[in-house]
Amino acid sequence: MESHISPGPLGLYVHIPFCLTRCPYCAFFSLPFSRERFEHYLKILNQEKELYRSMIDRPLRSVYFGGGTPSLMSASQINAILQDMPFEDDAEISLEINPIQVNPQYITELKSTPINRLSLGIQSLNDEDLKWLQRRHKAADIAPRIKLLRDGGFSNISLDYIYGLPNSSLESVRTTLEQMIELEPDHLSSYLLEIYDDSPIVKFRNQIPQDEVLADQYEMICSMLEAAGLRQYEVSNFAREGCQSKHNLLYWKRNDYLAWGAGASGYFQGQKYQNPADLELYEEGVLAHRIFPGAIENTLEDDEWDYTMMRLRLIEGLNFAEYRMRYGRDFGREQAIRKLADSGVLIADTKGIRISPKGLFISNYIISELL
Ligand code: SF4
Repeated sequence: MESHISPGPLGLYVHIPFCLTRCPYCAFFSLPFSRERFEHYLKILNQEKELYRSMIDRPLRSVYFGGGTPSLMSASQINAILQDMPFEDDAEISLEINPIQVNPQYITELKSTPINRLSLGIQSLNDEDLKWLQRRHKAADIAPRIKLLRDGGFSNISLDYIYGLPNSSLESVRTTLEQMIELEPDHLSSYLLEIYDDSPIVKFRNQIPQDEVLADQYEMICSMLEAAGLRQYEVSNFAREGCQSKHNLLYWKRNDYLAWGAGASGYFQGQKYQNPADLELYEEGVLAHRIFPGAIENTLEDDEWDYTMMRLRLIEGLNFAEYRMRYGRDFGREQAIRKLADSGVLIADTKGIRISPKGLFISNYIISELL
């Protein structure tokens, strides 16, 4: 890809592909936890870090430990990965944390690491839903654990929520969300349940509410969170002022991010790459000093496609002047823009385009119409 695309901020994603149990709806790469395998994996991960060290040519704006269950790591294991890394002054260092692992000792340990943002996979606050999702926590566990985290000095807490569960109603979504809002999260990610063909819960697919009901659930989620001061900044993400995820914004603004760990995918200087989602192949690659595995040099056209798709997921949308500066040509597509704007799903003016509140639930369709 041509080099007129400036190197903006840099992020790092670290994948920890181990879980205590497998959730039936999960599509992420994760394996059953065993201490021996886990420790060996971290050893390889630290070797992978050495392969990329010289490429960290800017202080990191963000690090995101995702999984899997990265909260299976101890503070010393986290510190070993982050040791000697350059950070921006207000870098965001996030850790996905399983609610069952929140306890005073672990919180104290975490405070000895640079972690300053926690993402709790609570998914629901309804015990029936949690049982169906096969989560190991109960709704009543969450408020005291968030209090522990806050008392322990963590002021940036994100919650994950899954809606669109089988037989869910507008009322059940409203109740759960009211309880989530009472927890005063700084950030909330709300995802629609997706049931994959090979998922163990595929038999429940016909109990998923109809699209119109899901669209109503989504609309209600957006308006309730907005009213609670959690402003929507992306199709599935909401935050208090100043608490938007810096790491996710790197993805959506098409900035560089390195990715370490089995199955992790990154984007660096115009190249997309992905580590094998297989422990043996991953280890083999690291031991052979293979960097950027499976790298695909993005053509300018590919990059425009990705950029447009990501930008339109953001509520602020796509700015024509920025687009012109990045690609040296106009965005164009006037006919498609007019058609979508006339149907009320896209807002267009001389500065740019963004998906309207009415269009957000069908954002994938709108993006495909534009591309
Ligand atoms: S804890 Fe998270 S990553 Fe692990 S199986 Fe459940 S949803 Fe997937």
